[in-house]
Amino acid sequence: MSKQILILPGDGIGPEIMAEAVKVLELANSKYSLGFELSHDVIGGAAIDKHGVPLADETLDRARAADAVLLGAVGGPKWDKIDRDIRPERGLLKIRAQLGLFGNLRPAILYPQLADASSLKPEVVAGLDILIVRELTGGIYFGSPRGVRELENGERQAYDTLPYSESEIRRIARVGFDMARVRGKKVCSVDKANVLASSQLWREIVEEVAKDYPDVELSHMYVDNAAMQLVRAPKQFDVIVTDNLFGDILSDQASMLTGSIGMLPSASLDTNNKGMYEPCHGSAPDIAGQGIANPLATILSVSMMLRYSFNLGDAADAIEKAVSLVLDQGLRTGDIWSQGCTKVGTQEMGDAVVAALRNL
Ligand code: NAD
Repeated sequence: MSKQILILPGDGIGPEIMAEAVKVLELANSKYSLGFELSHDVIGGAAIDKHGVPLADETLDRARAADAVLLGAVGGPKWDKIDRDIRPERGLLKIRAQLGLFGNLRPAILYPQLADASSLKPEVVAGLDILIVRELTGGIYFGSPRGVRELENGERQAYDTLPYSESEIRRIARVGFDMARVRGKKVCSVDKANVLASSQLWREIVEEVAKDYPDVELSHMYVDNAAMQLVRAPKQFDVIVTDNLFGDILSDQASMLTGSIGMLPSASLDTNNKGMYEPCHGSAPDIAGQGIANPLATILSVSMMLRYSFNLGDAADAIEKAVSLVLDQGLRTGDIWSQGCTKVGTQEMGDAVVAALRNL
């Protein structure tokens, strides 16, 4: 039976990077007879322009019916001034919540060829391989009440809520420990338990879950220290498990260790490993339309999709190998370029990965 993949390119550089990822996916599909059927739809600003909302019900239904979703990025200045409740990012939050995609996997791996592109010294980042497991459907991005109210003195006050239930913490902690088991067997849980009530419960539940994983070493770290340690000695980490807000920030920070956010893929999984796959970066309006965006994070998201949703480890390995071969050839988009390498555009980079994969 064929497997359905819904493609949602989004806005800004989204369509540019997605075109390259789809080329790679289509080649893998035919080369390895994977039986995928691809369909396309809109999300974010493109959906606002077409439907008036950032995620139409019909698109959500198609995402529910699909076996996996591949997404580019959403947002841009064109939609910055519209009502907060229908901003492009709301479409993204809605699809994650409605599909129950609570487990966000964000690997930060430094390709040895890119050691020079990192802003840290090569010896600090060489061999870096961290997995950030971020809770994705709870916490302050979804908590209510939220809004803006007027105080007695007439001044406006904005407020958000950061709720976490035991079950939400338990299931993301399990993802972290399960991942650590097949990696370096170390989990660092990041919180702010010295200040936040939600973090105190977080720490308590993570300790409970750890009892089921005696083979995995657990440590705790406050988020401010984690931010510092990530740039001081990032190789001390194996798996970092953390909440939605902290994970959002730390994973962007970790991306720079690897040279560029343009290299970082992500997977967002539900309890059955159905997933949505997307690059960690946004729609990069500053470079949209110029054909210079790095498509590798989206191409590597395809490889994560094959690995986690379809259990196709060999095909996933092949895509990652093709990316590595292209880096060996010295081809670099502007964000990862360094002296002595050949600067290429989005399409050339995609074509090079396709050629490398074809020859494997
Ligand atoms: P961004 O990730 O879009 O860009 C940050 C910087 O990284 C920019 O200088 C950009 O040019 C660069 N960059 C990002 N991806 C790149 C790539 N593939 N190749 C080369 N350079 C790349 O973050 P931002 O500027 O804070 O946000 C821009 C828009 O994207 C906003 O509307 C924001 O809300 C949205 N956003 C969307 C997502 C998402 O869809 N998942 C995530 C973050 C931000």
